[in-house]
Amino acid sequence: MSTYPFSAVVGMDNMRLALVLNAVSPAIGGLLVRGEKGTAKSTTVRALTAVLPEVAVVPGCRFSCDPAAPDPACPDGPHDASAPVAVRPARLVELPVGASEDRLVGSLDLERALTEGVKAYEPGLLAAAHRGVLYVDEVNLLHDHLVDLLLDAAALGTSYVEREGVSVRHAARFLLVGTMNPEEGELRPQLLDRFGLTVDASAPREPDVRAEVVRRRLAADDDPAAFAARWVDEEQVLAERIARARGRLASVVLPDAALRQITTVCAAFDVDGLRADLVMARTALAHAAWSGRSEVDAEDVRVAARLALPHRRRRNPFDAPGLDEQQLDQALQDAADQGPDEPPDGPGAGAPDGSGQDDSGQDDSAVDEGQSSVDAGAGAGAGAGAGAGAGAGAGVAPPPAPEAPPAPAATPFRARLLTVPGLGTGAAGRRSRARTDSGRVTASRIPAERVTRLHLPATLVAAAPHQLARGRAGRGLVMRGEDLRESVREGREGNLVLFCVDASGSMAARARMSAVKGAVLSLLLDAYQRRDKVGMVTFRGAEAQVALPPTSSVEAAAARLQALPTGGRTPLAAGLLRAADVLRVERMRDPSRRPLLVVVTDGRATGSAGSAPTAPVEQAQRAAALLAAAGVASVVVDCESGAVRLGLAVTLATALGGELLRLDEVAADSLASSVRARTATPSRKVA
Ligand SMILES: [Zn+2]
Repeated sequence: MSTYPFSAVVGMDNMRLALVLNAVSPAIGGLLVRGEKGTAKSTTVRALTAVLPEVAVVPGCRFSCDPAAPDPACPDGPHDASAPVAVRPARLVELPVGASEDRLVGSLDLERALTEGVKAYEPGLLAAAHRGVLYVDEVNLLHDHLVDLLLDAAALGTSYVEREGVSVRHAARFLLVGTMNPEEGELRPQLLDRFGLTVDASAPREPDVRAEVVRRRLAADDDPAAFAARWVDEEQVLAERIARARGRLASVVLPDAALRQITTVCAAFDVDGLRADLVMARTALAHAAWSGRSEVDAEDVRVAARLALPHRRRRNPFDAPGLDEQQLDQALQDAADQGPDEPPDGPGAGAPDGSGQDDSGQDDSAVDEGQSSVDAGAGAGAGAGAGAGAGAGAGVAPPPAPEAPPAPAATPFRARLLTVPGLGTGAAGRRSRARTDSGRVTASRIPAERVTRLHLPATLVAAAPHQLARGRAGRGLVMRGEDLRESVREGREGNLVLFCVDASGSMAARARMSAVKGAVLSLLLDAYQRRDKVGMVTFRGAEAQVALPPTSSVEAAAARLQALPTGGRTPLAAGLLRAADVLRVERMRDPSRRPLLVVVTDGRATGSAGSAPTAPVEQAQRAAALLAAAGVASVVVDCESGAVRLGLAVTLATALGGELLRLDEVAADSLASSVRARTATPSRKVA
């Protein structure tokens, strides 16, 4: 099977440039590609290795040691300095989102270690990716635990495996490339920062470019080998250019003026720490080398800013992605303006003028130049991706409101931790107690498969009674595989937090709706940090609506919430029944993820004009009882305010068998937070 040629990819110019720059300078630290499905993100990543320089390795070493500098700690070592040298193509290793820890870091056979005294280690994907590319598709869906392992390895350039005192360490330096669809959920900030560069990939808009994409795809599917053969020359040219740029990189100079531009731009965009400045400097150097220059100029800085900064701005998860080009222009101009009087040494006078010129409207052509230069032989693509970083801001804009402008959400705050009672078995997260792969040891059991988490005391206890029968004579215990016991661990899981929000007239007082939205937004932010799925049902007027089906995209939920109109009657029962529906479907889809229903209401229920006044309340009670019978854990956030209180939310919480919180108790540091919210009791109405 031949992969699609890198040179033949159309309309992904920013992405290809970012990949090429990483190939020129692996120190940049990888690439994250964000974009909708069906934009050839994966195809482009998989095509990269064909144009990467080949790798010299020690033959037979499973850890890809460099013969010129073999890893002294290599588990397959030590390697003889005079050993032969093998050359192989650069390797791309894919990390599946659902991979086990053993698959990623390798597995140690504890049974053999204990019973035979042999350190048997099977390398994992991190070993395979050493000196190559590690690719994670849907990286935003990667298990938290794997993310931690990946971050550790990426930070140290080393993979370390330890199983109850038996340990193995090997080098693991790789180009980390992730692709994701932001609609399916955001990335943890720590992981986001780990990627040197980000690009937004979208399908090209121009019909001609799209036609070329389709034409090539058809040709490639029709006869992959013939199609690849047509691109051999372009691939060769590109590979040689990458190799040349890599060779030139060490001699490229970063002048003081360019460095000042970098630091000024980073300061202007208010990025955390100095990592952004470093990545930008490395990217600008790589771009200069790639462009055949011996010195970084303003254009290199501009390209580097577009690729290195969008994900590093100080922002909350609901800000639009991308980089404001005007702000970038301004920052580059500022650096040029303050240039001459600042540096006490060196001439430095020429550079600010040069960068000033670059700012005067030439940026577009300059970008195209940078892009089309990647685009060896594919003229149609030039300009298709231009400004993708800047133009991507539209994704999270709330839809226009149909009536009076919706009340804005009050400023979010740190929310109290709401949990599902009991012990779950869901995906790792940070909300409710659960049996997990990591976490603290709470018990031991006989393992179902190979042991990775040995419980040593339990293992010894299991082996002890048999020592005589097994003929123990020497000092050590006589161990058998059947003695092994594994640890049962308890950590935290993520949940599905389903909001059921009353948007009816009784809630519609503007100030109060702002407070309600602020509280829900705070809970959403909390859910984002705890790796929960979220969903939202709203009810007002005649019906209940699924405003947001369960998703990992908290941004989408926040946008729906901001745009939520209010007014009309209060079909509470319909809201609860719709929530029950959503939960039933979701339980089929993801059975181990336990739901937490958060009902945000003043507890009132009104029906259509003709119905008896008590009917809606009874219907709501029945709907609540249904949810309680299904075992759904719930919290009622009581939004009732004013001097005269009906305390209807108490009744609802009781019917749901859930907790009750006043709106002002949603904050983690509220006055009432010392009094833990408890199962609702009628006496609470008085308090
Ligand atoms: Zn080795």
